[in-house]
Amino acid sequence: MRMKIEDVVKTEDGLVAISSESPFYPDGKGGQLGDRGRIGYVEVVRVYEKDGRTFHVLKDALDPGEYEVWIDEERRKEIARHHTAQHILSASFMKIANMKTLSFHMGEDFSTIDLDVHPLPEDILKKAEDLANDVIMENRSVIEHIVEREEALKLPLRKPLSDKVKGRVRIIEVEDFDLSACAGFHVRRTGEIGMVKILNHEKVKGSLTRVHFVAGKRALEEYRKRVDVLNRLSKKLTTSIDEMEMRIDIILEDFKNLRGDFEKISEEYARFLFKKLKERAERIGNIEVIYYDGFKSVGDALLKILERSNDVDNILLIVKTGGSYQMASQSLEVGKLIKELLPKVKGRGGGGKKIGRIIADVDHHGLIDALRETIEK
Ligand SMILES: [Zn+2]
Repeated sequence: MRMKIEDVVKTEDGLVAISSESPFYPDGKGGQLGDRGRIGYVEVVRVYEKDGRTFHVLKDALDPGEYEVWIDEERRKEIARHHTAQHILSASFMKIANMKTLSFHMGEDFSTIDLDVHPLPEDILKKAEDLANDVIMENRSVIEHIVEREEALKLPLRKPLSDKVKGRVRIIEVEDFDLSACAGFHVRRTGEIGMVKILNHEKVKGSLTRVHFVAGKRALEEYRKRVDVLNRLSKKLTTSIDEMEMRIDIILEDFKNLRGDFEKISEEYARFLFKKLKERAERIGNIEVIYYDGFKSVGDALLKILERSNDVDNILLIVKTGGSYQMASQSLEVGKLIKELLPKVKGRGGGGKKIGRIIADVDHHGLIDALRETIEK
């Protein structure tokens, strides 16, 4: 297949080859993904239509001229599978619960339809998925009819014909199941789709439900991915897939209890530690500096103890966590103190009246020296 490139221009998407006779199907048209392939040896990464011409976003440079083109047929088949799956899935929701599909979007990872309802009951989702897969397994024919507009208006189409459609209309028929006007790619028999699987659904635009689905090889890939994850988890948790959820609930419950115990133990330990550290406190002027470098939970508990105590006047508590020092005091203006300290330790940070934080590349002694300099000046 050959194609003439009339122009190559630089855009914010990169280099773009323009042609008015392109066999490449553009991205987004009818909600569908576009073709990929090559023009000469240059890869096409995205395709769009503008003013009746086709714009091919290129991976490398190319001169205008005539080229041999190659279109990724396997991708096109996968697009056809998803597109036809969408017709069948939308028709299934319509037949089972009279739910209308308002829009369709095809993505690289999954496709979506927006249905005109919310909430969407789980049993309807399951029934529609079952019906769609029955139609696929029955391997019905998918037939393309090209008819005049007047004739199309007489047909029982799932979606009324848009006023924008002029002249002859392309109707896609899924044998004894669905009739829709559509310009995208479709399979010839429903069996080619393999399967359609709903992955998820969410509320959108206030009162609609967006249904995420996959079909064709993508459905197999998704299935493979999820089975792999489940198998790995099953090994890690040494339990069968059926009992996995119960096992995880037990682990989460245990974790919650342990975390509660851990917090209580940290607080108890911090109460003892506070007294001990106070005995060893370093005096700067009339201030006692209590310093702690260790577990975050204990540091947090120490800060809490200071906050709740009454007899802690003139105590400055410093808790080192990660690369930062938290400082707290009941009587000193901590924010003001930090402001004066910052240039001395080449750090950053700040704080309020009672608590603040300094991040500085300085050790315990460096910090105490800087404090001494600030307080005893
Ligand atoms: Zn279609």
